[in-house]
Amino acid sequence: MREMRYEAPKTLQGALALLSGGNGLARVLAGGTDLLIQMRSGLEPELLVDIKGIPELTVLAAENGGYRVGAAVTCMELIEHEAFARAWPGVIDGVKLIGSIQVKGRATVGGNLCNASPAADSVPALITAGAVVGIIGRNGRRETVVEDFLTGPGKTSLAKGEIVTSLLLPRRPPHSGDAYLRFTPRTEMDIAVVGAGVNLTLDDSGVCRRARVCLGAVAERALLVPEAAAALIGTSVDAAALKRLAAAASAACRPIDDKRGTREFRIKVAGVMARRAAEIALARARKI
Ligand SMILES: Cc1cc2nc3c(=O)[nH]c(=O)nc-3n(C[C@H](O)[C@H](O)[C@H](O)COP(=O)(O)OP(=O)(O)OC[C@H]3O[C@@H](n4cnc5c(N)ncnc54)[C@H](O)[C@@H]3O)c2cc1C
Repeated sequence: MREMRYEAPKTLQGALALLSGGNGLARVLAGGTDLLIQMRSGLEPELLVDIKGIPELTVLAAENGGYRVGAAVTCMELIEHEAFARAWPGVIDGVKLIGSIQVKGRATVGGNLCNASPAADSVPALITAGAVVGIIGRNGRRETVVEDFLTGPGKTSLAKGEIVTSLLLPRRPPHSGDAYLRFTPRTEMDIAVVGAGVNLTLDDSGVCRRARVCLGAVAERALLVPEAAAALIGTSVDAAALKRLAAAASAACRPIDDKRGTREFRIKVAGVMARRAAEIALARARKI
C-alpha cells in the first residue's frame, strides 16, 4: 500500500485548501463506513480529509420551520433527535435501517448520500422530503436538490474538491406524513432489493393535495416517480388510488437482475412497497 496522509482540519476553509491542494486522489472521510470498506477493496487515496471536527458540519438545528442537518451528524444523533423524528418519521425509517447500532453511531446521512449507492436507505425519503443539499467549494457555496445531486451509481454532481456541508429539510404543512420501507431477504444488515419512500399532505377534509414518491434500488439512481404521486393527488388515498400508485411505481422501474432479485421480482415488489409506504404515510398524516 502507498503512503497515505490523514488530516483532520477544524475549519471548512482548511478542508477546502487540503482537498484542492494536491493532484493525487483525495477523499472526504465522514463516518468511514463505506470508505474504509472501499479502501480494503483496493481504493488507495493519497489524502483523507476527516470532516468530523468541523463545527459547522456537526450542527443539527431547526431553521425556518425546517431542519438543517450537518454533513457530519451521525445517523444515531438524527434518530435520537425527538423533534426531528416527529417531523420527518419517514426519513428516520430510512436512517434506522442503515447497518447496525455500531454502524449508525459512526455513519452519517451525508456519507450515505455522497456514496451514491442506488440502494442507499436514506435517499428515497430525503428526495420525497424535498431535501436540499448544501455544498461548498473553492468557488463558494451552492445548493441543489437530492434528486439532481445523484447522477448514477457511485456518482454525484460534486466537482473535485467540493464538500457537502448539510441537508436542509423544509418546513412541513399540517396533515403531512412520510414513510420509507425496503424489501430485503434478511430483516437487517442487508442492502435494499427495493426501497420506497412516500411523502404526502392532506387538506382539512382528508384529500391529498401534495405527494412525492421515490423508489430505491430499481434504477441507476433513486427514482422520483411523479406518475405515482399523481395517482394520490386529489383523492382520499383510497384503495383505487393506492392501486394506481402501485401500478405507476412498478411501471417506472428499470432494475437490474442479480442474485438478490430478478427484474420481474423487483418491479412487482416496488409496487407493493410503494403502496404500503403510502398507507403508513397516510396514517401519520391523519395523526398530525
Ligand atoms: C455493516 C454495514 C452495513 C450497512 N448497511 C447499510 C444499509 O442497510 N443501508 C445503507 O444505505 N447503507 C448501509 N451501509 C453503508 C454505510 O454505512 C452508509 O452508506 C453510511 O451512511 C455512509 O456514511 P459514512 O459517514 O460512513 O460515509 P463515509 O464512508 O465516510 O463516506 C462515504 C463516501 O462519501 C464521501 N463523503 C462523505 N461525506 C462527504 C461530504 N460531506 N462531502 C463530500 N463527500 C463526502 C466519502 O468521500 C466517501 O466517498 C452499511 C455499511 C456497513 C459497514
